[in-house]
Amino acid sequence: MPSSSTLSGKRALITGSTSGIGLAVARALAGHGAQVVLNGFGDANDIDGLCAELGAVHVDADLMTQQGCETLMADAGPVDILVNNAGMQHVSPVDEFPIDKWNAIIALNLTAAFHTTRLAVPGMKEKGWGRIINTASAHSKTASPYKSAYNASKHGIDGFTKTVALELAQTGVTANCISPGYVWTPLIEGQIPDTMAARGLSRDEVINDVLLAKQPTKKFVQPAEIGALAVFLCGEEAGNVTGANWSIDGGWTAE
Ligand code: NAD
Repeated sequence: MPSSSTLSGKRALITGSTSGIGLAVARALAGHGAQVVLNGFGDANDIDGLCAELGAVHVDADLMTQQGCETLMADAGPVDILVNNAGMQHVSPVDEFPIDKWNAIIALNLTAAFHTTRLAVPGMKEKGWGRIINTASAHSKTASPYKSAYNASKHGIDGFTKTVALELAQTGVTANCISPGYVWTPLIEGQIPDTMAARGLSRDEVINDVLLAKQPTKKFVQPAEIGALAVFLCGEEAGNVTGANWSIDGGWTAE
C-alpha cells in the first residue's frame, strides 16, 4: 500500500499510535515505505485491522512504567525512527490537582520518552542514522491555566529533545519536537467536560472560546498535517534539522 518508498528499509516505532496523532504519523510513515511498529491501547480487533492496513506489528506495552518501556523496546527490536507520541492530559486547578494524575502525566508524557530514547540511541549510533521525533505541544512553548502537569511535561520534553540533539549532533541521528496546537482527537474531546467544569462554560463555549480562541486560523490542526511534517523530518533532506521545535498550531504561538 505505500505510495512512496522514501522510507523503505526504515523501521519506525510510534508510541501511542492506535489513535489520533500517533495513528496519523504511523499512516504517513507507512505510506512512505517505513516498516511500522504500533503501540497503544484499544480494541484488539481494531488494532488487528490497523496492523493489516499498514502492514505493521503492534506491541502492547503500558509506557507509564519503566518496565513497560523496556518491554516495548525489546519487543519492537532495533528501530531507525522513534516517535515518542503517547500522551495524556488532565485539567484541574493546581491546588486541587490529583497527585496520581500529576505522576501519571509526567511518567507518560516525559519519562517514557527518556526510557525509549536511551534504549533506541545505541542502535541508531551504530548505524550512523536515526530520527527521534517527540510530539510536544504548543504547551511546550506557552501555558494555559489548569494544565500544570501537562505544561510541565511538554516544556520538559522540549528541553530533553534539545539535549539529545546536541549529544547526537555528529552521529547522523536527529532529534526534534513537533508542537501541535489543538488537533481534534480523543485527547481533546476528553478534556472538554473537565474544562466546562473548571471554567463554568458550555461545550460550544469551550470549543470556540477556549480551544479555537487560541488559534488565529480558527481551525483545528488535522492529524494528517502532522504526519506530513513527520515524513519531512525523517527524510534525508532534514539531516541538518535537529534540536528544533516545530510549531503546527495555526499561528497560536506567534501571538
Ligand atoms: P489520543 O488520546 O488520541 O491518543 C493517545 C495514544 O496514546 C493512544 O494510542 C493511546 O492508546 C496511547 N496511550 C495512552 N496511554 C498510554 C500508555 N500508558 N502507554 C502506551 N500508550 C498509551 O491523543 P492525541 O491527541 O493523538 O495525542 C497524542 C500526542 O499529541 C500526545 O502526546 C498529546 O499530548 C499530543 N498533543 C495533542 C494535541 C491535540 O490537540 N490533540 C495537541 C498537542 C499535542
